[in-house]
Amino acid sequence: MGQITKMSCIQLDEQDGLSALREEFVLPPEVIYLDGNSLGVLPKKTSLQMKTAIEKEWGQGLIRSWNQADWIHMPQRLGDKLAPLIGANEGEVIITDSTSINIFKVLVAALRLNATKNVIVTESANFPTDLYISESVITMMGCERRLIPEGESNIEKFIDDSVAVVLLTHINFKTGEIYDMERITQKAHMLGALVVWDLCHSVGAVPLHLSQHGVDFAVGCTYKFLNGGPGAPAFVYVKKSLLPSLQQPLTGWMGHAKPFNFDIDYQSAKDISQFLCGTPPILSYTAIDTSLDVFAKVDMHVVRDKSIKLTQLFIDLMEQECADYQFQLITPKDANSRGSMVSFTHPEGYPIIQALIANGVIGDFRAPNILRFGIAPLYLRYVDIWNTVQYLKKIMETSEWNHPKFKTREAVT
Ligand SMILES: *Cc1c(COP(=O)(O)O)cnc(C)c1O
Repeated sequence: MGQITKMSCIQLDEQDGLSALREEFVLPPEVIYLDGNSLGVLPKKTSLQMKTAIEKEWGQGLIRSWNQADWIHMPQRLGDKLAPLIGANEGEVIITDSTSINIFKVLVAALRLNATKNVIVTESANFPTDLYISESVITMMGCERRLIPEGESNIEKFIDDSVAVVLLTHINFKTGEIYDMERITQKAHMLGALVVWDLCHSVGAVPLHLSQHGVDFAVGCTYKFLNGGPGAPAFVYVKKSLLPSLQQPLTGWMGHAKPFNFDIDYQSAKDISQFLCGTPPILSYTAIDTSLDVFAKVDMHVVRDKSIKLTQLFIDLMEQECADYQFQLITPKDANSRGSMVSFTHPEGYPIIQALIANGVIGDFRAPNILRFGIAPLYLRYVDIWNTVQYLKKIMETSEWNHPKFKTREAVT
């Protein structure tokens, strides 16, 4: 590989078939946003659509809008709109609650379904909420949890015929490593276990084929790569054949077969609506609606192709420009095992990220020492990666990071 220059990055942008999509988003000038895997950016159409929902549907329509604007079916309708992004069929996805709450619902439902077994397999390197929720679920259900140690590459080794459920995150939130969903799902099924995939860092970043791989359950956020807005409700996917026999534990009235009969006894809906609990936050759904419109215009294979090129450029440029500064790449070098992020460890990770943010480059820090850069191909340019690495180089060269103002930790890192 020859020397990479700013000019060669600009040329890549000129040849980029996705470059026009940048226009769909509000991107503050002077900011390079590498945190779209934590909180996605604002799509331009979202403000107007929310204004309409607030002023017309809520302000004028009032309670009539549950029917007239079809608010009542937004969780199912937007679930169907999201389904193609994860390779699911109509009626298999619903938007509701948070990922944390959905993990609880699917874990308990899966354990009840696979009641002759009592082990949950998950991994210490999982996202904390997956660990914390599964911890509570095993206490509640009188089950056991088998934790795969951090750094263990043979996941399948931990699955045997005592396992009821395997709960894994498809793309690791710190390293960006991708698990082989098809292979692990197959192995679990062979031994009679159900699988739950957490897709928070996958949806909107890589093509997914849940139905094709026979996945039982999946959950994921809409506020990361999907740009649904801060705290936007999450999704649940359930394989259609499982739906009639499930018992979802949070039996709120919205998951009832006939909520407006106001029956005394709970009768679960038999379709994906059984994963609803309470009244859906309609304004947040409105934002998800417009953010999914942008994805309807793209082929996820094209997005993935650009994502790989951007992450590769980042890795190559760090080697070319910042080799002197102790950054250790923790993201897989093999593009097929790498999600849409690039992470490095550095002993001074926190102040370095703070100095970068002060320069307008927004990445994030994950304890204890990880600098994490999310790569959202819908709006990032190759030249943004070039500029990011140049800022990083400047911060290291001048020891700008070593200023006391960059060393105080805020509540959200
Ligand atoms: C971001 C993330 C979550 C977040 O869950 P919330 O309930 O939305 O806070 C869960 N799992 C993974 C893997 C994540 O990356």
